[in-house]
Amino acid sequence: MLQSQLLMPTLREAPSDTEAASHQLLLRAGYIRQVAAGIYTFLPLGVKVLHKINAIIREELHAAGAQELLLPVLQPSEQWEESGRYHEYGPELMRIHDRHGREFALGPTHEEIITALVRSEIKTYRQLPLTLYQIQSKFRDERRPRFGLLRGREFMMKDAYSFSESREDLRLIYQTMFQAYERIMIRCGLDFRAVEADAGSIGGEGETHEFMALSEVGEDTIAVCSSCGYAANLEKAESAAPDMNAEVPKGVLRESPLVESFCTPGMGTIDELCSGLGLKPDRIIKTLIYFTDGKPVAVLVQGGHEVNEIKLARLCRAAKVELADEDAIRQLTGGPRGFIGPVGLRLPLIADRHATGMNDAVTGGGEQDIHLRYVKPGRDFKVELTGDIVNVLEGERCSRCSEGILHFQRGIEVGHVFELGTKYSGKMGAQFVNREGKLQDIIMGCYGIGISRLMAAIAEQHHDAEGIRWPRTVAPFQVHLLTITSKDEAQADVASSLYSLLRDSGLEVLLDNREERPGIKFKDADLFGIPVRIVIGKLASEGKVELKFRAEEESRLLDIEATLA
Ligand code: ATP
Ligand code: MG
Ligand code: MG
Ligand code: MG
Repeated sequence: MLQSQLLMPTLREAPSDTEAASHQLLLRAGYIRQVAAGIYTFLPLGVKVLHKINAIIREELHAAGAQELLLPVLQPSEQWEESGRYHEYGPELMRIHDRHGREFALGPTHEEIITALVRSEIKTYRQLPLTLYQIQSKFRDERRPRFGLLRGREFMMKDAYSFSESREDLRLIYQTMFQAYERIMIRCGLDFRAVEADAGSIGGEGETHEFMALSEVGEDTIAVCSSCGYAANLEKAESAAPDMNAEVPKGVLRESPLVESFCTPGMGTIDELCSGLGLKPDRIIKTLIYFTDGKPVAVLVQGGHEVNEIKLARLCRAAKVELADEDAIRQLTGGPRGFIGPVGLRLPLIADRHATGMNDAVTGGGEQDIHLRYVKPGRDFKVELTGDIVNVLEGERCSRCSEGILHFQRGIEVGHVFELGTKYSGKMGAQFVNREGKLQDIIMGCYGIGISRLMAAIAEQHHDAEGIRWPRTVAPFQVHLLTITSKDEAQADVASSLYSLLRDSGLEVLLDNREERPGIKFKDADLFGIPVRIVIGKLASEGKVELKFRAEEESRLLDIEATLA
């Protein structure tokens, strides 16, 4: 490719509203442009990198026995009603309607659509196991799109779904996919860790792991054991014996069985809250967020005597919040209204950013955000609390081996694999005739990779102050040829013969043939981050060119004849 013909608008300065290095550099180097918050155009160089990543993913998934298909972005709401997620998913699901008033969702993920497909096409165990995948744009109305491609509202995802007749088969597919993911991450040049995870809104009954690219800009924290290899997302991590006297960092709410149960990243229900506390659901009377002057000031849990006060007190101490006494609750609620043995938990809610009345309150809790939602779908109260709620503290002992110490690292979730079980097939009636001749729910798994996020994660891990340093496997070109003076005949001759020669040998080559000052060409080359640079300058007439690897400081002289010989 001749650079004079390439659409590669570079920027000298980073746009002001950009924080993450990948965001700044992908904009500056002309890989992407922002269209609106969380929505991006991929320019020609950006598309090339996406295609490289896609090719690696396709190769590894085909090797794992998966088949590619393409599902629609527009998904009729009926299928989402069947799974129950049309209401559960909340405001992240983008909803539109057609001219007849029929409702549709823009796919944030495709469990419903694919389960409906398999329900009509798969009839017997002879057609199983089956793994299908697609590469496509996904839509999520993220509360806070940020860091460029790292958290978009429209982004590229590879999503795969497996269908099997037994848990054992699911286990095998899960392991195969897990290994394919490891190979994909390695081939993309990522420093990553697979960690035990929480199922979130996709749900499921079995194992789930996230693939984390290690990076300080990552929004996830992972706990890693110094000794046995245990690694888990903080939402999920457990320590051997938490030290409840340990100092808890400010702005962090320490997880306890109570908070865990109603504060999972999806939505907790009263039932989950009860199971977390070891209670029968009918013993919890109410869970409330209490508002004063329109602002949420407290979360109240009102229950019977069985509510474990020791657990609550422990939680409150760790979270540095008050355990409200009976009087305080009486004051807040205007009386106990017939409940027995009330227990209240008071959270220090500092700023109220986007409160929209009783139903939706987003509050800032210092450095970390704590997001509270209070909804009343039918008879259940549901409370959602997201943010950095920690389960363990750095330095505590590992729960797996009781010997190692847990260390924290920041990570970017680039992939996520789930053993779904029958969560979707059960609700949507996707059944097959099993070996005993009986109808049975298909056993599913799902496996996602955020391709555009992965691209940004690579740039996070591979860059310096001057620009990106793409690993060879995903670079838009492998070799960048530059002439110092493009009008110089000797230089132009060497450039054009090297250009054809390298291309003939199967390499992708970008030739900077522009009539620009060398300084500008070098700066652009550093920004682009193509792994190998060959500079054709004065010594071209003597058959010598300069070779430099983007990841290294030093360059070396290369004798063209000798190299080719
Ligand atoms: P997160 O916790 O970061 O919000 P998620 O757990 O909601 O991600 P999944 O539902 O597991 O995401 O989707 C599969 C993959 O899609 C994720 O592992 C991630 O790589 C990618 N992904 C999810 N949300 C986004 C987004 N807003 N922008 C870019 N990639 C995303
Ligand atoms: Mg999410
Ligand atoms: Mg997640
Ligand atoms: Mg996830």
